[in-house]
Amino acid sequence: MALIVHKYGGTSMGSVERIRNVAKRVAKWHKAGHRLVVVLSAMAGETNRLLSLVQKISEQPNPRELDMITSTGEQVSVGLLSIALQEEGIDAASYAGWQVAIKTDSAFTKARINEINDKRVLTDLNAGKVVVIAGFQGVDPDGYITTLGRGGSDTSAVAIAAAMRADECLIYTDVDGVYVTDPRVVEKARRLDQITFEEMLEMASLGSKVLQIRSVECAGKYRVKTRVLSSLIDPMIPLDEEMCSGTLITFEENEKMEQAVISGIAFQRDEARIAVINVPDKIDIAYQILGPIAEANIDVDMINQNSGIEGKTDLAFTVNRGDYKHAMNILSYHSKEYINAQRVLGNPQVSKVSLVGVGMRSHVGVASKMFHTLSEEGINIQMISTSEIKISVLIDERFIECAVRALYKEFDLEKT
Ligand code: ASP
Ligand code: MG
Repeated sequence: MALIVHKYGGTSMGSVERIRNVAKRVAKWHKAGHRLVVVLSAMAGETNRLLSLVQKISEQPNPRELDMITSTGEQVSVGLLSIALQEEGIDAASYAGWQVAIKTDSAFTKARINEINDKRVLTDLNAGKVVVIAGFQGVDPDGYITTLGRGGSDTSAVAIAAAMRADECLIYTDVDGVYVTDPRVVEKARRLDQITFEEMLEMASLGSKVLQIRSVECAGKYRVKTRVLSSLIDPMIPLDEEMCSGTLITFEENEKMEQAVISGIAFQRDEARIAVINVPDKIDIAYQILGPIAEANIDVDMINQNSGIEGKTDLAFTVNRGDYKHAMNILSYHSKEYINAQRVLGNPQVSKVSLVGVGMRSHVGVASKMFHTLSEEGINIQMISTSEIKISVLIDERFIECAVRALYKEFDLEKT
């Protein structure tokens, strides 16, 4: 008898019919003798609907009130599923985050979980109930409702699984696992049966949207056995079949002799590049340029600096396109007042494509093969960054799909 956490996302909870299917699936697991904790998202589109109501009233709403509002979507979901489970003859109890309690800090709209008290949940499980918990939310030390950031119910599920030492955390979603790359770009993209935690972390941070990155970090930190699988297939398929479907996030590198060099191709379309040209090459120049950007809470991704001639240097970096204007405004002010740059150049039409794979550790020549492939397609590389298990390049956004397809082919990713 295992303790299993299920998580269902917005699409899986998107209609009354789908909620009934979720109830059937959960009931199947429960009847097989497992102890079930179910974590839910709001019904598809609900969080956006709530946010759009707020926007009609205020452009800069108070984040504490915002969390009061956006947390309601999940509350509806848990109530509905508990009722659907009861209709299936299963004893179920729903809980909001604060009732569990899922204790967070007070960073409204992006709170972090500090502690989960599982006493109440355990009492219910011991009484044979299915426990249904609202994802995406918690409670701060003052008793205020908090939310964990968009997509945060993945993190709720993994954190609950970690706190309760669950045997497995199953993330049910609208795709049937993690793909080598986005099937909308490479039609026949292959689904991975397994991916290492490190690769998943890179994929999530590099633009694959299957799991919220914080949930992957949490799975890694507490070694939660996590699987991504589809909620849209027949809820009554045999349990043993379902148990090995989807993609398992593993902690050991594949024992297979021939570990694939590349496991995935991730990409992020909405990047922007900013280059600060001909600044004095002095000790704190990087800080002078990037300090004000950090202070404005803008995330910087790739950075490169080259020493130029005669004591001058260029520094280029990328930010999310949504932050581009803000970053440019900050720099054009600072470049005259403090940094003494000759020019600040901006290009908001760039995208990033990355190869990810633990196999890179033991293979040389991955980068040069990547660069060669792109050059054959006539694609210019504007920036490069690497880690032990990934290589990212920044290119013109018009070429992103072409680059992904060419790399998929060149690295033989159709093969299993
Ligand atoms: N409902 C929240 C959102 O739309 C949390 C989630 O779905 O994970 O971002
Ligand atoms: Mg999600």
